[in-house]
Amino acid sequence: MPKLSIKDLDLKDKTVFIRVDFNVPLTPEGDEITSDKRIRASLPTIQYALEHCAGVILASHLGRPKGKPNPKMSLAPVAKRLSELLGKPVTLAPDCVGADTVALKPAPGEILLLENLRFHAEEEANDPAFSKNLAALADVYVNDAFGTAHRAHASTVGIVSHLPLAAAGLLMHRELEWLTRVTQDPERPSVALLGGAKVSDKIEIIQNLIAIVDKLLVGGAMAYTFLRARDEPTGRSLVEEDKVDLASHLLRTAGDKLMLPVDHVVVREVKPGADSEVVRVIAADQIGVDIGPNTVEEYTKIIREARTVIWNGPMGIFEMPPFDEGTVALAKAVADSGAISLVGGGDSEKAIKTAGVAEQISHVSTGGGASLEFLAGMELPGVAALTDKAARR
Ligand code: AMP
Repeated sequence: MPKLSIKDLDLKDKTVFIRVDFNVPLTPEGDEITSDKRIRASLPTIQYALEHCAGVILASHLGRPKGKPNPKMSLAPVAKRLSELLGKPVTLAPDCVGADTVALKPAPGEILLLENLRFHAEEEANDPAFSKNLAALADVYVNDAFGTAHRAHASTVGIVSHLPLAAAGLLMHRELEWLTRVTQDPERPSVALLGGAKVSDKIEIIQNLIAIVDKLLVGGAMAYTFLRARDEPTGRSLVEEDKVDLASHLLRTAGDKLMLPVDHVVVREVKPGADSEVVRVIAADQIGVDIGPNTVEEYTKIIREARTVIWNGPMGIFEMPPFDEGTVALAKAVADSGAISLVGGGDSEKAIKTAGVAEQISHVSTGGGASLEFLAGMELPGVAALTDKAARR
């Protein structure tokens, strides 16, 4: 990793500003957290800072308050849960900037959680004065919010120019290490498994991964746009007509690296319990809802040989069993392959949980949008802003 990690910092008696991703789901009243997964994900970084005698300031956004205070999106329930998890008090500041917040500066070993950053429109606008006010609270900066690393906001980018050092937290570091490992000089053969609804969402990823991997296996509704580009019948399956030319271009670029399903599970109406059949050629009134068993077999053979697998997107309408069979079978194949495996994106994560193989996946990325942009070869502003090890000031 070319960027500084929290482990490279001297934290003793310093005030560290840690940007975390505590954008947790809440009950409609906003008073209870329904999943504390994101809070738990940053515990190692917070604990590391506390153990190294830093005063810890935590900052996050929560929901979309549109630049105005909104009690339903307060971080109060997060402060409560975090305090329970750490077994120590967590002070919630009344705001994220201002004299009242500055006055609450934490002593070494103490924790101050700032109120929702997005109560100020300046956060998403990456406003310089607001960034400076955030920076004024601390001596050193750590970003552990991988999920927002693809956004250039005051707390992820602007703040960095007002502090001497900016390092990756442990969660951020782990995410970047895995993503880097599978995309730069991966163990070969390297295979990408791409599914989901739309080619349009994944164009950059396909373009970037074609140059990196040895095989790119396509499933999900995305496959039908490619089949149409090959002049194969797709019936009433989801096809993005305006992306067919692009799909032809990608097929030409990829050559035999890019593989498409050879059979399909089809229905006449997409609904739970619909009658389905397996076909090689989709008839005019049929809709493809999953990859067929021969495709599962072909893809499984390739996955079994792989040393690296990158997976994003389900192979069919996996929310509607039994149309999850292709996705579940390939999730098991990835787990059994023993390859280094990286799964990115919420739906793929659900799929590996459905298949019961989450434990066997090397890394499940916590940042949907950010991991997709990384796989697409884009620079993440929140990562670019961190101090280069080589340029340590
Ligand atoms: P994405 O967010 O792009 O990964 O897409 C995930 C969505 O793609 C899921 O909701 C799936 O139900 C949907 N999907 C996958 N295969 C198909 C298909 N054959 N027809 C319609 N939707 C599909």
